[in-house]
Amino acid sequence: MVPTADHYDVVVIGGGPGGYATALYGASAGLNIAMIEKHKLGGTCLNVGCIPAKELLETAATYLHVSEAKEYGVNAGEPTLDWSVSLARKDTIVSGLVGGLGTMLKGRKVTVLDGHGRLHAGRKVTVSVGSSGDLELTADSVVLAPGSLPRTLPGFEVDGKIVMTSDEVLSMPEIPKRAVIIGGGVVGCEFASMMSDLGTQVTILEALPKILPGLDKDLTQVIERSFKKRGMEIRTGVNVEGHTPTGAGTTVQVSGEAIDVDVVVVSVGRKANTDDLGLDGTAVKLSDRGFIEVDEGCRTGEDGVWAVGDAIATPALAHIAFIEGVIAIQDILGEDPAPIDYGKVPWCVYTRPEAAFTGLSEEAAKEAGLEVVTQKSRYNHNGRALIVNQAEGMVKVIAEKTAEGGAGRILGVHMVGPWVTEQLGQGYLAVNWEATVADMAPLIQPHPTMTEVLGEAIISLTGRPLHG
Ligand code: FAD
Repeated sequence: MVPTADHYDVVVIGGGPGGYATALYGASAGLNIAMIEKHKLGGTCLNVGCIPAKELLETAATYLHVSEAKEYGVNAGEPTLDWSVSLARKDTIVSGLVGGLGTMLKGRKVTVLDGHGRLHAGRKVTVSVGSSGDLELTADSVVLAPGSLPRTLPGFEVDGKIVMTSDEVLSMPEIPKRAVIIGGGVVGCEFASMMSDLGTQVTILEALPKILPGLDKDLTQVIERSFKKRGMEIRTGVNVEGHTPTGAGTTVQVSGEAIDVDVVVVSVGRKANTDDLGLDGTAVKLSDRGFIEVDEGCRTGEDGVWAVGDAIATPALAHIAFIEGVIAIQDILGEDPAPIDYGKVPWCVYTRPEAAFTGLSEEAAKEAGLEVVTQKSRYNHNGRALIVNQAEGMVKVIAEKTAEGGAGRILGVHMVGPWVTEQLGQGYLAVNWEATVADMAPLIQPHPTMTEVLGEAIISLTGRPLHG
């Protein structure tokens, strides 16, 4: 017997970044919210995405620091890796954050329900299977945030041992000797970087002409050079045909060649997790690829129903899911939020060296018919970068050409180098506030910091370089 429906201001389906941001922000605004999660609070990001991936990349960074310690006169000996300790540390950080999220939701009086949520006509939501039992809820507004799942490839059945997706890599019991990574996007490159730094012989296979789409070509080359210098193989424009298990490992067939490896990591993107959301009798529509169709305000076709995060066809990033949750709540409150300009959002890649970018690459600006001037400034003259022994990389600023031929509005800031994921903020503000080179050039960069390289690129665009 299903009990009488409880009514909420907002019911959220999914407890990942999209769902929990909606719930937390909505509760901050005084709304009475229920959030349904069928698996683990925090979704992909906290459990099998951003956080565990960055934690394991930090293991690789620490390994490298120790191996370089003697250059500083610090004799720590050759490092050795106890992967079980690395995994345990990662799990501790994940469970701490998941627990903290639960506490925060409780503190804001969000009703968290454990079970599978489905939307029906009239903004009725049913909950089933989980420990909260079978429930029926009604709501003034519903936000769908069911997220995404790793895509797989035909012929590459995931067994979690030889063929893995990101879900399994983050808990693999040991670091393999040889790995093929299918897909040179952000997630594939981060795994490649981490595994290579920990001793794996890595081959990246990418169907497109270049790895890391979206990143300016000049900067992608910096990453490719660094990867190759460390012994990685990168094959672009290739066609992965299949694989033949060999007992302990497998042989991958690619464009007529065979590569013997211990593991294959399939990293070919993610698909919307929208197969079993109910939706019967509603006007919520799914696209051919399974994404929930929304307008620029994250509104679905059904009155009073929004969708956010990886389940809609916007950049699959946790911070995009957060802001979409905020926008959905503002719209629910009738605050008329400005739509997100998805072409100017921040992207961060936590490889070694890191990459971070916002706005147009030079190629994309030219494709859009814009006349541009660009400036590249390098980290190899930057004091702080040399001190931390990571002077590889550059900042490239792409600015609109003025009528006089100078550098005007800043269209894109693309960076590769040390800690650039922490340095993108100024570039993000410049691009999104439509600042010009003249607006930015007088701003002071503290010394010695790595952001001096961005400052140098901008001052150089005025025609008068300082250090560069
Ligand atoms: P999800 O995080 O997938 O959460 C959806 C939740 O909904 C899940 O918990 C699911 O169990 C639940 N759910 C689904 N259907 C139902 C239902 N019917 N009823 C109840 N519950 C349901 N992004 C970044 O910004 N930075 C990074 O560094 C980064 N690194 C990443 C690394 C990896 C390896 C991966 C895989 C992803 C990474 N991402 C990163 C992407 C990021 O994890 C996602 O963009 C983000 O998690 C999307 O949030 P979401 O809430 O839309 O979906």
